[in-house]
Amino acid sequence: MTTIKKRVAIIGAGIAGLSCAQELEAHGFAVTLFDKSKGVGGRMSHRYFGDWEADHGAQYFTARDSLFQSEVARWVEAEVAKPWSGRIVSLNHGNAIDKPSDATRYVGIPAMTSPAKHLARNLNVLTQDTVVDLHRINDLWKITTKEHGQIAGAFEYLVLAIPSVQAERIIGKYSANLKAICQEVVMLPCWTLLAYLKEPLNLPFDGAFVEGSVFSWLARDNSKPNRPVYETWVAQASHAWSKAHVDQTQFEIEPILIKAFQELTGVEPDLHQSHLWRYAKLEEANAREFALDASIAVGLCGDWLKNSTVEGAWLSGYRLAEQLKQIALATME
Ligand SMILES: Cc1cc2nc3c(=O)[nH]c(=O)nc-3n(C[C@H](O)[C@H](O)[C@H](O)COP(=O)(O)OP(=O)(O)OC[C@H]3O[C@@H](n4cnc5c(N)ncnc54)[C@H](O)[C@@H]3O)c2cc1C
Repeated sequence: MTTIKKRVAIIGAGIAGLSCAQELEAHGFAVTLFDKSKGVGGRMSHRYFGDWEADHGAQYFTARDSLFQSEVARWVEAEVAKPWSGRIVSLNHGNAIDKPSDATRYVGIPAMTSPAKHLARNLNVLTQDTVVDLHRINDLWKITTKEHGQIAGAFEYLVLAIPSVQAERIIGKYSANLKAICQEVVMLPCWTLLAYLKEPLNLPFDGAFVEGSVFSWLARDNSKPNRPVYETWVAQASHAWSKAHVDQTQFEIEPILIKAFQELTGVEPDLHQSHLWRYAKLEEANAREFALDASIAVGLCGDWLKNSTVEGAWLSGYRLAEQLKQIALATME
């Protein structure tokens, strides 16, 4: 293998940033990842609450592209992902009709964050480091984070693996082209309710695509493999409803979500949490896959450059890494 020895800073340790990092490291780049959260995985997220826990971002993933199928096979082999055989239905005013998928529905085990943690295990990831500013000095990138100020070290390449709005804020002033690409897309919000119950709910399904409700998705999280037995339901409001209520507070929204949950299931949660995903999903799929401004050695990847799935995000990161490898090889003396 050719040794490249280029330093790359990747902002965002969601599945796109990690996939990009893994492929670059495997080809001799020295990668440092920065993430503002306590852990990795981004929207492949899992929340703990006393004895309860739930995936409160991505619910499951499928693998249709052969590259991603091979990756998921490695995750299954490493015991960080497994098929979810729960009964999934379409639910319309109490009427449940089976909704089979043409592809296996996988989940991370024991949590949706597990594949991301697996990818990160041999990578240099700096968590709780929110990148707030970038500096281009002598063709190198320097990084400033909210928590630690300017970071020691400089990077030949920079990758932004964060949602479009956040990417635009920090790279916009350096590249009109990348700024315009960020502005092309619309990311939609999603209000989410996590409902914790002391007794199992007597419903004849484990996941439902819902119509005629505030919610568009409802799932029994403890029906997923390797989960605790405590009854936990995740209810996600539709993007249209979430968009219409994006500026309201949790205090205002929670009673509405709880009422909608009760209408669907017949019970009120014993305990609950809610969360607004401000940039949950892309409005329309994007054919770009990734974006690059080679003149300043900056790449963008993430679900918003392909489609808002775990598979789309992973592929976007991988494709950007492939392109950066080509550029680095071409510039080697
Ligand atoms: C509610 C919801 C339900 C979903 N359901 C599904 C599903 O069922 N199936 C499916 O396949 N997909 C689903 N998705 C979509 C899927 O989760 C995403 O497409 C995918 O996880 C996006 O990965 P990413 O790496 O592109 O971005 P992210 O996961 O958003 O990663 C970006 C990372 O960047 C970090 N970050 C942002 N700004 C900064 C900064 N300035 N400095 C440092 N770090 C920063 C964030 O902390 C985050 O970790 C769902 C998403 C949501 C929100």
